[in-house]
Amino acid sequence: MRSILLKSIAVSLVALVLVLGCGRNEKEKQLSDFIQSHVEKIKPLMKEANLAYWNAATTGSEKDYDKYSELELKIRQIYSNKDDFAFLKELKESGRIKDKKLARQLEVLYNSYLENQIEPELLKQIVELGTEVEKKFSTFRGKIRGKTVTNNEIEEILKTETDSRKRKEAWLASKQVGSVVADDLIKLVKLRNQAARKLGFDNYHTMSLTTGEQKVQELDKIFNELYELTNEPFARVKAELDSILADKYGVGVAGLMPWHYHDPFFQESPLVYDLDLDAYYKDKDVKELAAKFYAGIELPVDDILKASDLYEREGKNPHAFCTDIDREGDVRILCNLKNNERWMSTMLHELGHAVYDKYQNPKMPFLLREPAHTFTTEAIAMFFGRLSRNAAWMQDMLGLTDEQRSEIEKVTVKYAQLQQLIFARWAMVMYNFEKALYANPDQDLNALWWQMVEKYQYVKKPAGRNAPDWAAKIHFAIAPCYYHNYLLGELLASQLHNYLVYKVLEMASDKDVSYVNQPRVGKYLRKNIFEPGKLYHWNEMIERATGEKLTPKYFVKQFVQYNNDN
Ligand SMILES: [Zn+2]
Repeated sequence: MRSILLKSIAVSLVALVLVLGCGRNEKEKQLSDFIQSHVEKIKPLMKEANLAYWNAATTGSEKDYDKYSELELKIRQIYSNKDDFAFLKELKESGRIKDKKLARQLEVLYNSYLENQIEPELLKQIVELGTEVEKKFSTFRGKIRGKTVTNNEIEEILKTETDSRKRKEAWLASKQVGSVVADDLIKLVKLRNQAARKLGFDNYHTMSLTTGEQKVQELDKIFNELYELTNEPFARVKAELDSILADKYGVGVAGLMPWHYHDPFFQESPLVYDLDLDAYYKDKDVKELAAKFYAGIELPVDDILKASDLYEREGKNPHAFCTDIDREGDVRILCNLKNNERWMSTMLHELGHAVYDKYQNPKMPFLLREPAHTFTTEAIAMFFGRLSRNAAWMQDMLGLTDEQRSEIEKVTVKYAQLQQLIFARWAMVMYNFEKALYANPDQDLNALWWQMVEKYQYVKKPAGRNAPDWAAKIHFAIAPCYYHNYLLGELLASQLHNYLVYKVLEMASDKDVSYVNQPRVGKYLRKNIFEPGKLYHWNEMIERATGEKLTPKYFVKQFVQYNNDN
């Protein structure tokens, strides 16, 4: 009796589930069918494209590069289909997609289609002009006193030369490309704006942010808060840096000019604090170290490493990247490993991207089985990449003595603060300038650039300077409206660091944290960051994972307040 009753309850439950499950309304059914056929088309193409890119990067074969471009074009064509876009738009506006996962997939699809809806004729002009500008960047060589110099030569002078006059010449040479590309760049900005306006946006910057699920006000708030919080500490570290540089170049602090910093844009820390960590890595195997570390936090990477291409070879891409071939576990990294600190960091960084991809939830729909945002995967990569200079991590992984550790700490803590503050202030210039550039490309951009450099970086404009120095930064041309994501990545890396230290590992301070052999780290990241994939908007994911939306607070806590107690 009882069992019959239970059975009938069970049967009606099943019936209820069936009713609810199939209770999708007509619109939801249409969407679900659309997604199914879309994924059937896109999935094999993406895999093939990723493989072609991988083959091209590992061999340098022209044929594979061509194949990759062809496949990319095919994918683009799918996403530029006007009827499909109209269909998705209608569904989105109908308000009838109630199922959360379906609604989220619709959002993701809609954005992918939206960014590909630029009119073909306009798109052609944008691509051609973009290619033209990029070519000018790669072929132009600056001149010093009539003699051609390469970018490497310029960098070398800015790093080592002590004669201010020669430094100035090198800096000026680094800006010459600006005048060559500025007019085309402004034209390109206007074309991009034209395309965005046809799609209903006020300019291309707003459109790019929107398709990347970011809002101008949201980013403004984060950038402004960080600006306020770093004003005073940045002034302090910069004053210290300036007095060292002024001594070195014999010019007095008031005489310091943009060419006294060690790179053309003052985006990196000048090499004034001795930091040579290579000695600690030169007798180690950075691959083994990385494998051991990730195994210890229960994010094993053995099969990733097996599928990867790790060492230098003729014709191979000299950089590093990570690729998720099929969203089904075939994740690979490309490196050109050497046993030094830089490659230790790069290896940890790329494997950070790799574990984010590898430990996605296989049951998640294909369209949601990827990182929440490009900056969230960057954050994970940065979080791990920072460890190669973390003295506690180095001690645990390399078996260093307490003395060795405190030697390292003396320099690395200060260096990390300086580096992060300099980068943050530079990213403010990039973000705010680019926003203003798209809002009004006809304004006095040369003057605006220097106003921002003075405001954010505290670097003086050379008297009477009126040249398109902003245009010498290649990112405006080839990676428009993206730069801010590097800073967001750093902020999230610090927010996660804070949460892991105080909430997950329940430590009293982050001074001794190395994360070595802490399985709770991997478990937390898998459950809260990796497995949700793209199921939530990035800020909702962050809020669910850390109890707060993205905030610059913890970046400041990690790199500024620590400074105060020392
Ligand atoms: Zn990265």
